[in-house]
Order: sequence, then C-alpha cells, then structure tokens
Amino acid sequence: MIGFNVAPFVGKEFTYIKEAIQAEHICGDGMFTKRCNQWMEEHTGAAKALLTTSCTHATEMAALLLDISTGDEVIMPSYTFVSTANAFVLRGAVPVFVDIRPDTMNLDEKLIEAAVTERTKAIVPVHYAGVSCEMDTIMELAEKYHLAVVEDAAQGVLSFYKGRPLGTIGDYGCFSFHETKNFSMGEGGALLIRDPGNVENAEILREKGTNRSRFFRGQVDKYTWVNQGSSYLPSDMNAAYLWAQLEVAREITADRMASWETYYRELMPLEEQGVLSLPAVPEECRHNAHMFYIKTADLRERTALIAFLKEAGVQAVFHYVPLHTSPEGERAGRFAGEDRYTTRESERLLRLPMYYGLKKEEILYVADKIKEFYGK
Ligand SMILES: *Cc1c(COP(=O)(O)O)cnc(C)c1O
Repeated sequence: MIGFNVAPFVGKEFTYIKEAIQAEHICGDGMFTKRCNQWMEEHTGAAKALLTTSCTHATEMAALLLDISTGDEVIMPSYTFVSTANAFVLRGAVPVFVDIRPDTMNLDEKLIEAAVTERTKAIVPVHYAGVSCEMDTIMELAEKYHLAVVEDAAQGVLSFYKGRPLGTIGDYGCFSFHETKNFSMGEGGALLIRDPGNVENAEILREKGTNRSRFFRGQVDKYTWVNQGSSYLPSDMNAAYLWAQLEVAREITADRMASWETYYRELMPLEEQGVLSLPAVPEECRHNAHMFYIKTADLRERTALIAFLKEAGVQAVFHYVPLHTSPEGERAGRFAGEDRYTTRESERLLRLPMYYGLKKEEILYVADKIKEFYGK
C-alpha cells in the first residue's frame, strides 16, 4: 500500500524532545521554540515569527490583530481549507468568496476588485500547493482600497514569489506544521509579522493578553494583563520535533522536489495527449513541492480513477468541498461573481501520494497505474 501521506520524521526528533524535557522547560517559548522562531526569521526576513499551536490559530490571531469585527467582509477563495474562513467568521465577519484561476487553483487576482465593498477589510490569498498567488496585483489592490492582507501560507513554507518568501508579503502570514505539511510538529503553525510595529501586540495576544514576553526579556519588572488574549503557544516538546526538521529543511524540500519532478516527467505524455492536466507553476513562483495533483476530465472519471488506484494499492485523495456550497459557508458567507472554476476544477483535482521519503519506484508505479487506467 502506498499511502497518501507519511508524517515527516528525520531521526533527531527523539533526541531533541528528550533535551526539551531535560532542560525542564516543556511549556511554551523554551529553547526549541526560540530556535524555530529564529530559523523562520532568518529564512523569511519577517520582522517576527511566532510559533503557534496551529495555522488555524495563527489566522485567528491575524483576525484579532486586525480588529476584524461583525459585518466586516474578507475576500478569499472558496476553494480552501475551512480555517481560512473560520478565523474571520469567529469574529463575526462575512467571507466573500471569489473564483479561482484554473491553472494554479489560486484566488483569481483579476476578480478581486469587483468584490470590494465599503465593508471589505482584508484579502486572504491562499497559496495552494505552495504556489504563490499573484501577489503584486493583490498588494496593489490592498493599497488602493486600504485593505489588510493575510497570507494563508499553510502550504507555502519555503516557497517564493519573485524571490520573496511566502508569508512575508502581506501584513501577516500563516504557516502550518500539521503532520500533512512539509515540516511538522504534529499540530502547530506560525504567525509571520511583516511590520515591527505589530510585533508587541501579537506577543501579548499569544501570551494570554499579558506582557510576559517583555518580562522575560527584562523589559518590564513584572508582568500583567494588558490586553485581550488567549493561549497560542505550543509546548516546547512539539517545537523540538519541528526543530529536527527545520535543521534539514533543505534536504526535505530537495527530496520532495525530486518526487514532484518525477511525477511531472512521467505524466507529461498524458497531458500532451490531452487526457489529464498537470499543475501549472507561473514563472515568477518557486514552489516547495507541497503537493502533486492531477486533474481528470470530470468528477465521474476521478471517482473511477480513485477506485482503480485503490485496487492497485495506491491511496489518492481529493479535498476541499468549495466552502460556499457547505452548510456553514452558505450561512456565513457569499460568493461574489460567478463560480466558473471553483466547483468544476475542485471536482477534477486528485492528489497523489507525496511525502518526505517517498521512493522513486513507488512514484513510477503510481504513474504506471495511471497510464494503465487511461489505456496508455
Ligand atoms: C493545513 C491548512 C490549514 C490549517 O492548518 P492547521 O495547522 O492544521 O491549523 C489552513 N489553510 C490551508 C490552506 C491548509 O492547507
């Protein structure tokens, strides 16, 4: 059986978790959390990176920091994970869904302007499969209409747009370190903060509304409740697991890239023959091989292919029922403009096994089975 995902494990995780325990600091912001934060700052250039309990929570933090409130509108794709919308819906905002581009499955930047109203407060581009949205256009619109930008870069760790790391272009960027992502700590994420002026509020919010971070740096002599807040700090044991992977992040990415390229090369003839579509990566984007997907002709063909692969011992999966067609999405949000591609393309997309350590023979086997399915 070739599973769809295997959680990343590089070998040093046990050693580091043991070190965290021996350091007698297993709660938040211990030495491993600090190393991870510093690593992210060095590799992205963000003013500050704060490890969080999830990408979901990082996005909730961004919504709180932006003071999103009842009736505000937030523009985002409908083809995304629920957390993109939930973070804003929890604050009483209305997600305004805009159609995606069929080539990258990302928010169509050309349709955003028509969705802007008096109530619009933010745009949330989701960098699907670690391939960047058209950020120059999005940032220009944000400036024109005074909107905040929160990048859902859950899948975009170590991906770039015109050489700029994803998660650092908008006001806030949200990373995920869930077990299905390129680098993991089980459950976890990070908030990237572009502007130094927003760092202190974020630290307070993450530390239950206290100025404890300043206290630990010796900047105040006692810590107290200074603002609203919650608990978004992961335990240092989780950070220790992540640290083992960040240390070899380059190798992990190279391994995934090699797998991605093999799939692409093997399946290219099928695209050339017009039987399926492969992912598109615009020239200005450098991706991180978070995902490899194909697109079948339609839903019926995808269902048949999933069954065929399952029979052959290959687990292939699809995801994202478009949010605007889900019960909560219908209740809380609205679709601006026409759904030309969101539903149609979501029904065609199929994700193939992709994880650190996936073997080349396994990829060749999967590709052969797909060719067999199409009678090629
Ligand atoms: C994984 C994912 C999330 C959620 O990440 P968690 O760390 O599990 O909260 C949000 N958005 C997108 C696009 C994702 O892929």
